[in-house]
Amino acid sequence: MKIAFIGLGIMGKPMAKNLLKAGHSLRVYDRNTPAVEELEKAGATACKSAVETVEGVDMVITMLPNSPHVKSVMIEDDKVAEHMPKTAVFVDCSSINPVASREIAKVLKEKGIDMLDAPVSGGEPKAIDGTLSFMVGGKQEVFDKCKDVLSAMGDSVVLCGDVGAGNVTKLCNQTIVAINIAAVAEALQMGQMCGVSPEKVFAAIRGGLAGSTVMNAKAPMMMDQNFTPGFRIDLHIKDLNNVVDAADAANAPIPLTQSVLEMMKVLRKDGDSVYDHSALLKYYQKLSGEVLHR
Ligand code: NAD
Repeated sequence: MKIAFIGLGIMGKPMAKNLLKAGHSLRVYDRNTPAVEELEKAGATACKSAVETVEGVDMVITMLPNSPHVKSVMIEDDKVAEHMPKTAVFVDCSSINPVASREIAKVLKEKGIDMLDAPVSGGEPKAIDGTLSFMVGGKQEVFDKCKDVLSAMGDSVVLCGDVGAGNVTKLCNQTIVAINIAAVAEALQMGQMCGVSPEKVFAAIRGGLAGSTVMNAKAPMMMDQNFTPGFRIDLHIKDLNNVVDAADAANAPIPLTQSVLEMMKVLRKDGDSVYDHSALLKYYQKLSGEVLHR
């Protein structure tokens, strides 16, 4: 397939490289010129603007930071939608507000263009390995057309509903991860302050009902005070703000998400939002004046 790929950051760059490896022809653009040059060396056609990427393509993929960026590129500033071939499909892999996904889909539909929202989980290592999990929203027939392309970048591609459903699912994922990290941090800190080593608590409970993928990944980082990202707190704040907006539009109660978001904002005020989201532990360390250790 001939694909336009816009947004070559931490995630977009390896995803685009995997599409090239799978034999697709790519036209790429990012504001950051070195990223475009790197993809050109890997075999893509370098473009000087987002609009230039869409010439003669079958699919347009974006991997941008948040809703305002996707709206700016597709319908507000660059207006890529106006230049896309009518037969091309738009697939947004960014994690954005589902309300914005539906707004963009509506504008595209008026032009006769189909859209999928297809955010991912897995982070940079899985983007490099091509083993991301895609949560997709859109029509079944559009999904069927695009599934092989997404499968070149991920090993799980699930259609969750109509447009917006991909990002709703991603927000559910981000809520569960954030609250789970906070629960692990709170419990390990409490355990240590009550006299039991976090290492023993982790070893004893990880195989039981309290155990989780989050606990296995983040408890060792917390005990080692290793907060190298991974997934930065400022990106997680972006996602939880999208949860707040989406939940507000649907009147959905989210007291736990709101609490963890407030904790993350305290860390951001102190300059800690550049760290991995496991640094939620720092919130408890600040309150207690005690540092977690093995
Ligand atoms: P990033 O900041 O590394 O990359 C975003 C890229 O978009 C940058 O290269 C930037 O130059 C480019 N960009 C921004 N505005 C642009 C514009 N108007 N025109 C052209 N290029 C523009 O972000 P990332 O980590 O690659 O994340 C991308 C998306 O994937 C986000 O929504 C993020 O939440 C999500 N995500 C990230 C991870 C992760 O671990 N990093 C994991 C899962 C999902």
